[in-house]
Amino acid sequence: MATLDLMSISKSFGSAKVLHDISLAINDKEFVVFVGPSGCGKSTLLRIIAGLEEATSGQIMIGGEDVSTAHPVDRGISMVFQSYALYPHLSVYENIAFPLRVQKMEKAELDARVQQAAGILQLTDKLQLKPGQLSGGQRQRVAIGRSIVRNPKVFLFDEPLSNLDAALRGDMRVELSQLHRSLDATMVYVTHDQIEAMTMADRIVVLNGGRVEQFGTPMELYHHPKTKFVAQFIGQPN
Ligand code: ADP
Ligand code: MG
Repeated sequence: MATLDLMSISKSFGSAKVLHDISLAINDKEFVVFVGPSGCGKSTLLRIIAGLEEATSGQIMIGGEDVSTAHPVDRGISMVFQSYALYPHLSVYENIAFPLRVQKMEKAELDARVQQAAGILQLTDKLQLKPGQLSGGQRQRVAIGRSIVRNPKVFLFDEPLSNLDAALRGDMRVELSQLHRSLDATMVYVTHDQIEAMTMADRIVVLNGGRVEQFGTPMELYHHPKTKFVAQFIGQPN
């Protein structure tokens, strides 16, 4: 079970408070989108969940277990970033295998995991190529493959499609939704793009100025916005 519970998370950088007492209960296998304007704290919240940044106060529970002080590697979480950070000199195969090499996984299991991820992401015939020989969408899939092989319980995506052109972004949205259905995992997806949020999410968290404006299904937000900000941001006049 990969429920994700955020309990009263706050974060300050020096005297600047950027997250204010955020509490959210995310269900197992749910696809939740954090949406909000630039600077509202989306990446900071995601980095705190991943363990890359420490909350000033509050707790994070995964599957009912407190991971607030756990090392990032021990949280069962994988994060996919906006910039893919692939190794240009390594093949697609080795880029995907990289986290397993670091774990010193034995060869047969490593190969099985890489092949499985490549199959899901339709990269099976690209495994011997270098990242420079791939399209933008294929490179993003390699980055996702590198997350899948670790069998995380929770996937975090920080604006993974914002470097892609509009047409490709549409295709990748569909692919990520399919990926969510094919994997047994909870996903948290950050974007500043309302359309992306409305089309992909089971539930949406609207953030503004480091606070949760509303947490609900796309239809709830659209038809019953709780605040003026949500109404304007999601596009329905109040
Ligand atoms: P978003 O991802 O929604 O655009 P961020 O989480 O990146 O927003 O940033 C939220 C706020 O926190 C911004 O005002 C940003 O300037 C500030 N911030 C983020 N990281 C740091 C940091 N390491 N030091 C100081 N301020 C930061
Ligand atoms: Mg950000």
